[in-house]
Amino acid sequence: MSIEIDRDTCVGAGQCVLAAPDVFDQTEDEGISFVRPDAPEGRDGEIADAVDRCPARAIALVDR
Ligand code: SF4
Repeated sequence: MSIEIDRDTCVGAGQCVLAAPDVFDQTEDEGISFVRPDAPEGRDGEIADAVDRCPARAIALVDR
């Protein structure tokens, strides 16, 4: 499973970072969310929480 964030949709609300701080981070300038390069495996519950919390529905989980 991979995480895709629609950068055009993200409004920088930061709810994903609150839900899963090991997985998500935000750019310092625009606050756009991205997946941390050092994100650990096995945070499925927190990631699902982030998806639920995102007010812009900018996070998608994709099976690969
Ligand atoms: S919760 Fe959604 S809108 Fe807010 S920073 Fe994360 S991806 Fe962007």
